[in-house]
Amino acid sequence: MKEDKEAQLCKACKKNKVFTTCSGCGNCFCESCLHMQMDSSGCGSVWVSYYCDECVDDEKLNPNAAMRTNSD
Ligand SMILES: [Zn+2]
Ligand SMILES: [Zn+2]
Repeated sequence: MKEDKEAQLCKACKKNKVFTTCSGCGNCFCESCLHMQMDSSGCGSVWVSYYCDECVDDEKLNPNAAMRTNSD
């Protein structure tokens, strides 16, 4: 892998290199701007999703957004 192209920068902070894409909006973000979330299918499979600040609390994009709140 050559890195002669300019590294793609995070869409949120525009400072850090892109780590991966947000599962909600599909934009590219750095590791510190993403929230890692464990999702499970309910039948034993667990996988990791990454959501940006905007999408992590959006129930339409993140099916587990409601589960993030511990306070009631
Ligand atoms: Zn960032
Ligand atoms: Zn997003």
